[in-house]
Amino acid sequence: MEPRHKLILMVVLVVAAVGALVLVVRPKSSPLGKRAGATPCVCAACGQEATQSLKSVPDTCPACHEKQLYPAVKCPHCGAANALLLIGGPQGRQPVLTCRQCRKQFAPGAQPQASGAP
Ligand SMILES: [Zn+2]
Ligand SMILES: [Zn+2]
Repeated sequence: MEPRHKLILMVVLVVAAVGALVLVVRPKSSPLGKRAGATPCVCAACGQEATQSLKSVPDTCPACHEKQLYPAVKCPHCGAANALLLIGGPQGRQPVLTCRQCRKQFAPGAQPQASGAP
């Protein structure tokens, strides 16, 4: 193989490596990657619902600016968004929320029975 061909091969390999690196790194800094981190959340103070990535729990509410913004979980009975702030019970026990709208109790991890079930 001629030295010149070796050089071309090296350049092609370097370009391919840089291209692969850009493809791997890019999703982390892209707006799409940030949107994937957004979660539905609800304010425990004013009931404002929002979809954003929480920097901390609780985070500051965009409506009333109280630090009462918690991740939201939908009530399987009525579909109302409830703040996920009552979690913290003894381990090994399923945490239970009481819906602020219909007052029924439900487990936040459970899937709504209405959707998808045959
Ligand atoms: Zn609020
Ligand atoms: Zn409910």
